Amino acid sequence: MAGAPAGLPPGSVIGILGGGQLGRMIALAAARLGYRCHVYCPEEDAPAAEIATLATRADYGDEAALDAFAGAVDVVTLEFENVPAEAVMRIAETVPVRPDAKALAVAQDRVAEKNFLNAIGVATARFREVASAGDLRRAMADIGAPAILKTARLGYDGKGQRAVGPGDDPEAAWRQLGAGRAILEARVDFEREVSTIVARGRDGSTAAFDTAENAHENGILRTSRVPARIPSAVDGEARALAARIAGALDYVGVLTVEFFVAGDGALLANEIAPRVHNSGHWTLDACAASQFEQAVRAACGLPLADAARHSDAVMTNILGAEAGDWPRIAAEPGACLHLYGKADARPGRKMGHVTRLTPRGSETA
Ligand code: AMP
Repeated sequence: MAGAPAGLPPGSVIGILGGGQLGRMIALAAARLGYRCHVYCPEEDAPAAEIATLATRADYGDEAALDAFAGAVDVVTLEFENVPAEAVMRIAETVPVRPDAKALAVAQDRVAEKNFLNAIGVATARFREVASAGDLRRAMADIGAPAILKTARLGYDGKGQRAVGPGDDPEAAWRQLGAGRAILEARVDFEREVSTIVARGRDGSTAAFDTAENAHENGILRTSRVPARIPSAVDGEARALAARIAGALDYVGVLTVEFFVAGDGALLANEIAPRVHNSGHWTLDACAASQFEQAVRAACGLPLADAARHSDAVMTNILGAEAGDWPRIAAEPGACLHLYGKADARPGRKMGHVTRLTPRGSETA
């Protein structure tokens, strides 16, 4: 059609770095639009590889495998942010990677991430970079208590972090964390945790989903609900901040921003994820186009879909042995059941999720 941006045609192959359930749901969305997927991950029995057309099982440091993968796909996206930057840069010599290595570098390092956010006017908890027990002692004096010490890299689902109280010995706390670099953050007395997922296309257009309210158990997401119980002005602010972050990174793809909401409605960004996110699974059932479809559209250069929501929703993760409950959930009227095809129901492992929809506006904000 005249004037419409030309994206990758159906039949093209999308490479996905990472083989988990997020990649699986990207591959399902890609299939709906006529694309094929090639999953690259080191793990056996990867939920994404199970349903993709092609799969490469290799380490992220395997240069020959990376080159073969890059040569076999039309564009690459990722479902896992800790893919080594070198691997992404190597692939990017052959084929576009969306989002790119620059966005990944910011999201992979909590110090770089918070410095970047503050530099573009997005507030975070107060923090100090820490690289030794002496640094930690000084940071504890600056930040005060209570505080949280987090490894700078490779932390997720609350791993690689510990609380630091006023009487704690910095030497012992530093030893116990066992990291080379870390960040000490003030503990935020938040009222709620929310996240906003924004897609940004190649043309710079953005589409943000409604902000979701998240509840965690043992550091793992348990439920996400929309609408979040926050004033609409706060939702608007969260979406604007997410779009600002994506713009500042010249980002192409889906980006998630997790925020703390203070009692007065002030937003502090906690973390950005350069990918689709567990807190956006509700979009599969409550929107015409999900976060996964937006990731595919952005990567392939298609116009973004409308991010409007037609229903209120509560998404609940199905963890570990709870997966045995699937017959009951499958029989529940209106429950949208998603299972990831994982055989081993280890405690806390994300086995699937269920989204329960109600008519839009039936949940009071
Ligand atoms: P993170 O790995 O940074 O996403 O942190 C995991 C969880 O720990 C968050 O979802 C919060 O519930 C809690 N948390 C992390 N940082 C802070 C903070 N600075 N203040 C209060 N709670 C925090």
